Amino acid sequence: MASKSKFQAIRGTRDLLPPETALWNHVEETAHSVFATFGFGEIRPPIFEPTELFARAVGGETDIVSKEMYTFVVGDFDRLIAWREFVSNTNKIRDLDELDIYERSLSYLHRFVQEFVKNGHLPDDDQIRTTLAAVQKTMSFVGAALIEGRRSNGLVNLDELDREVENAAIAAGSIRPGEQISLRPEATASVCRAYIEHNMQQLPQPQKLYYIGPMFRRERPQKGRYRQFYQIGAEVLGGVDAPAIDAEVIEMVMTFFDRLKLPGIHLEINSIGHAADNCRRGYVALLKSELEKVKDKLGADSQRRIETNPLRVLDSKLEHEQSIIEKLPHIADYLCDDCKTHYAAVKRELELRGVFYKENWRLVRGLDYYMRTTFEITAQGLGSQNAVCGGGRYDGLVELLGGPPTKGIGFAIGEDRLILSLQESQGASLATGHRPPFVYIAWMGANAYATAVRAAKDLRAAGIRVELPPTESKFGKALERASKLGAQYALILGDNEVAEGTWTLKTLADGTQQKFTEPHLLDFLKKM
Ligand code: AMP
Repeated sequence: MASKSKFQAIRGTRDLLPPETALWNHVEETAHSVFATFGFGEIRPPIFEPTELFARAVGGETDIVSKEMYTFVVGDFDRLIAWREFVSNTNKIRDLDELDIYERSLSYLHRFVQEFVKNGHLPDDDQIRTTLAAVQKTMSFVGAALIEGRRSNGLVNLDELDREVENAAIAAGSIRPGEQISLRPEATASVCRAYIEHNMQQLPQPQKLYYIGPMFRRERPQKGRYRQFYQIGAEVLGGVDAPAIDAEVIEMVMTFFDRLKLPGIHLEINSIGHAADNCRRGYVALLKSELEKVKDKLGADSQRRIETNPLRVLDSKLEHEQSIIEKLPHIADYLCDDCKTHYAAVKRELELRGVFYKENWRLVRGLDYYMRTTFEITAQGLGSQNAVCGGGRYDGLVELLGGPPTKGIGFAIGEDRLILSLQESQGASLATGHRPPFVYIAWMGANAYATAVRAAKDLRAAGIRVELPPTESKFGKALERASKLGAQYALILGDNEVAEGTWTLKTLADGTQQKFTEPHLLDFLKKM
């Protein structure tokens, strides 16, 4: 256990350290190579974007956006926001001192808003003008009360102020500073933004893009759930919505997992139709009325969701709700003909590709632009957080973000969980690709040192890992250290070896020694 130091990584974040990072690299290299064989190119979008992008794409009502984003306000907005918060959170004033502070806050807020309008940071529109007028009115009222109170030694009727204070609070609360940015909670929104920004619809369609990188969500940390976590994801944008595309995207994820030998993989699929009355909307209306009938038996979350997002009730993991949910109507029976045909074709295409799946009618997504294919993949050894990949079709998203109507489908793999699952199942025997031989150079003497430096350079150029100790030490000590570091070989270079031109290579596992000339040594190690 590490000792407690003054600074520690923030809760929900962690350092990835060697040797574990070798496994991360192996996973990422495998993603690069498998995705390349499917014709995908890498995109590296920025880690922060305007908050509004995520509010639109992920949905302002979702937990991710409403509760879990790391959001910043840039520049002097900080102070504006602070005054706004102060004024909009004050609802009662109890004495003259408070009244004094409150009056100052109002006038700061008023001045800041005026300045921001002048600098173009806030719009010069009706809403802002009304806000300014309301704050101004409260300021005058409060100012007068203050004068009155001072004259009469604190005898003001504070109750009378409440209505004015409330008006100012409402006005202050309506100021919406524009320049908010958020650390990305996911990357699909960024990829779609980039697709639009770079006119990628002019390029051959579809565009097949993948990304690897950190995401940020302020969730409650637990095993497999972090506040900074990594996703490996891909999106297919543009072109047609042929079922073969859905199936190929799923096949690609499964091929990647296969290549990594990820154990206990389960793929579940579903179709959620599209947002039309003769399809998903009709089903959701029916679901809602069925849920109303059993409302009393459901928990508070599900009860709320009957109103806000009935589909999400199907996600519930609550034990006592399961038997109720199982009896609800299945979406597959209410899809329109086109969506039914599409779903049947996706399943056929998966079979053609030898991809095993299970249908799960409860696999849903809460947002309107999600449509047809949805899928989720779980892996072994992860406890309750066992989803390693989620994906689906989202044909309306690019348009929602201001681009042309564009077909889209994608997925995101939780890399942290993928790694956890690999570690749990394969432990120390994890194959992390080819490891180069590791040579420790045990040198003694000034002549030997010059040769050691040159030898290190040549061996490294040949791809061999070399540890060249920076200071001289006796051979015995050097060999001890070589073993401790896990070297396979010690190259012994003393003045004798250098004079003779033959070098001694000791295999540390069995203590055997072999003599080599320099070129032969290189040949020998390269074959290892
Ligand atoms: P989502 O973007 O929510 O569909 O998540 C896609 C995948 O990312 C999930 O299946 C998880 O494997 C992973 N994931 C999501 N949130 C977290 C988190 N807080 N920590 C670790 N992995 C996560």
